[in-house]
Amino acid sequence: MIFSYNHLCTPHTVSCNQLMRPTEDNYRHKGLRKKLVQLIHSKGITDDRVLDAVLAVPRHFFLDSAFDEAAYADRAFPIGEGQTISQPYTVAYQSQLLEVQPFMKVLEIGTGSAYQAVILAEMGAQVYTIERQRKLFDANKEFSFLKKYPTIKFFYGDGYEGLPTYAQFDRILITAAAPEVPPKLIEQIKPGGMMVLPLGSGDIQQMRRITKLENGSLKEEVFDNFSFVPMISGKKD
Ligand code: SAH
Repeated sequence: MIFSYNHLCTPHTVSCNQLMRPTEDNYRHKGLRKKLVQLIHSKGITDDRVLDAVLAVPRHFFLDSAFDEAAYADRAFPIGEGQTISQPYTVAYQSQLLEVQPFMKVLEIGTGSAYQAVILAEMGAQVYTIERQRKLFDANKEFSFLKKYPTIKFFYGDGYEGLPTYAQFDRILITAAAPEVPPKLIEQIKPGGMMVLPLGSGDIQQMRRITKLENGSLKEEVFDNFSFVPMISGKKD
């Protein structure tokens, strides 16, 4: 069964808002997911809970039906409004660095397609996710698959502010390139908690993991280079 939407997006359309989402998850999709999991495992993702989550989540549901098979290629795709769904390897890499345990409170900055939020929810997290673009936030309200995940709470707002009302968080994950470490997000990490973010203002960012120690001091670790869309301050209507 396929939902009907206003217009069809093609793989070449980068500005579409209305997706024609597939809703069937068949043996072929499951086979493609298995191959994808083998691929990201061979690239260094060894956390079984991350691999199980990637295996469980139908990534093609998050894209237009034109991407039905391509959804399982290890690459980013346009999701409208000039934004992308991150490459599966990148999603898995950030999820592995985050060391999420069941029932942890996790704040995600940059909901986008909601794929990363669903991966975290599959790992048992209580997810709070913020998107600055109204159209992307609204698109997720219509995305019926997300009803399966009542542990994800969606917010329209500026990720630089975080969610002071719900703070502090065990984990914070930024899925857009942060030109600097957002100070308000540091405040919202629980002592003993962590934040993972791609840091840098150019085309390439360095993955960082910041751990807030019990005494409040910060430990910073540097990982591989990635290329994310920029984290931009303020909301966009
Ligand atoms: N996690 C997403 C990746 C989306 S790309 C996924 O799984 O699909 C990054 C997203 O961050 C974009 O949707 C962009 O609009 C959003 N973004 C950029 N700056 C932001 C900010 N300051 N606050 C919240 N979201 C932001």
